[in-house]
Amino acid sequence: MEFHCNARLEGFVGTDRLSGIQLEDQLIDVDIAVVGIGLIPNTELAEAAGLAVDNGICTDAHCRTGNAHIYAIGDCANSYHGHYQRAVRLESWQNANLQGAIAAAAICADACADACSEIQAVKNDAVPWLWSDQYDWSFQVAGMFDSQAQLISRGSAAEGKVIYFIHSDGVLTGVVGWGKGTSVAKDVRVGQMLLQQGKNPPFEMLADDSISLKKLLKL
Ligand SMILES: Cc1cc2nc3c(=O)[nH]c(=O)nc-3n(C[C@H](O)[C@H](O)[C@H](O)COP(=O)(O)OP(=O)(O)OC[C@H]3O[C@@H](n4cnc5c(N)ncnc54)[C@H](O)[C@@H]3O)c2cc1C
Repeated sequence: MEFHCNARLEGFVGTDRLSGIQLEDQLIDVDIAVVGIGLIPNTELAEAAGLAVDNGICTDAHCRTGNAHIYAIGDCANSYHGHYQRAVRLESWQNANLQGAIAAAAICADACADACSEIQAVKNDAVPWLWSDQYDWSFQVAGMFDSQAQLISRGSAAEGKVIYFIHSDGVLTGVVGWGKGTSVAKDVRVGQMLLQQGKNPPFEMLADDSISLKKLLKL
């Protein structure tokens, strides 16, 4: 496998089928192209409304923008995240769904503040989680990490399920599961709890399939 970083695509080549892609400086023969889109939020409307924008529409942990009448949620929102203590913009179904509930709670709490003290705004502080299905396999991801992070694996894809624990400088930052059906769901859920609670179990225990992950929550 070869990676061409910072390569700029000029066009696709082929008549009745794709045969190559033309980069700025070279032509590469290919059989198939996978197009990745959607990573840049469209913030023109927010900017025109005078909202602060920085890699998405800036919000507090309750999805409030600087304008008391406008909230932002989902892919377009760069929201303060209580767990990471910084603004985070996430692109997942689960985050959009969760932020919908957070914004609704904030709207209700703001609207009812004088009438009812029991309606409380909730904060955006859950360790992110997402899933995706690829035919009859699925993967789930909890946490946040970058491409420099290192992996510890538990199980193997050949046996139908592998869990990767991801760490940076020895600190657990993410959990990724890849397996048949929903086989990884419970392990990734426990991994998410480890991350949420700031636990950092010994790596040899994370790698050891014979040790229940739930036990590691009690360490
Ligand atoms: C190909 C693909 C695969 C994905 N797979 C997964 C996955 O497996 N798992 C996962 O968790 N996430 C996945 N995602 C990401 C997930 O779909 C998004 O994170 C989620 O849909 C974001 O929800 P949202 O409400 O923020 O935005 P959207 O779902 O994009 O909804 C925004 C809506 O606003 C409308 N809109 C935009 N501008 C205006 C305007 N000016 N006026 C009125 N309406 C407007 C748009 O038409 C759209 O309907 C995938 C995304 C893509 C593109």
